[in-house]
Amino acid sequence: MNRRGFLKSAALGVGGILLPAKDSDASVWEAFFQKHFREMNDKEKKDVVARLEIEYMQKYKKRITVKSTPALPNVLYGYGLDLSRCIGCRRCVYACVTENNQSRKPQIHYITVLQFKQGEKWVSDLEEAKKYYNAEEVPEAGHFYMPVQCQQCERPPCVKVCPTQATWKEPDGIVVVDYNWCIGCRYCMAACPYGARKFNWGEPEIPLDEINTETHYLGNRPRLRGAVEKCTFCVQRVRENPGRYPACVEICPVGARKFGNLLDPNSEIRTLIETKRVFRLKEELNTQPKFYYFFSL
Ligand code: SF4
Ligand code: SF4
Repeated sequence: MNRRGFLKSAALGVGGILLPAKDSDASVWEAFFQKHFREMNDKEKKDVVARLEIEYMQKYKKRITVKSTPALPNVLYGYGLDLSRCIGCRRCVYACVTENNQSRKPQIHYITVLQFKQGEKWVSDLEEAKKYYNAEEVPEAGHFYMPVQCQQCERPPCVKVCPTQATWKEPDGIVVVDYNWCIGCRYCMAACPYGARKFNWGEPEIPLDEINTETHYLGNRPRLRGAVEKCTFCVQRVRENPGRYPACVEICPVGARKFGNLLDPNSEIRTLIETKRVFRLKEELNTQPKFYYFFSL
């Protein structure tokens, strides 16, 4: 039973809510009643992480580590995407799936690569763009590509609408979800103008031999049916010391993806914002994405 199911039973006044037998151990109750991540002290975070690691060991028969590394000081992450370089190969999509333990069935992808015909009306009409191109070879002549994922908005409409505050913006600018607090109402999905949030309609399935065992509580730890998830700029990587690039940046064969600290005047992301003609998606909505598109060629 997920949190939503539990709350529903509670709302219906089901006397002495019964958990399924297989779930009827103390850890299930602890999961339901655990505090909001932002209200936990270090000891409480440590306890929750320890409980999750035991649960994952039982479920996946593998040691899965769950970090709760906080945001680094003086860091605000930003992303750049060079549309003149992207060849539409979707390597970023698949690297993201593996890194972030996204469900293979039902399939969840955080990144959608859109295909446009050159000269076609675009940007203002993202919903009309082709998502399911299936060319034998990319790039296809006369086309260009635009990957879209969470834009890590500085003013995220998804956060405003969440009735349980299960989603919020961290001090380093990453918008995160506490899967244990998500009740699956999907208001945030309706509020996001970029289609960036994905819903686990079924129990997420990941082949055991493909699980990424290095996880973060606010990132790629295994998710639950009924929870919403999204790109976190690979929080489990970028908050390491030294930080690593998000998996999509690392895999891109043509260097179309750039990432760095917007507060560092010498960072690559700052340089490109200052020297290229950058644009952000749907700027008129004043969501203030920290995701910048540009053409370098
Ligand atoms: S990996 Fe790079 S080139 Fe390939 S689709 Fe993603 S951004 Fe474009
Ligand atoms: S792109 Fe969507 S999910 Fe991401 S922060 Fe903005 S509104 Fe929220």
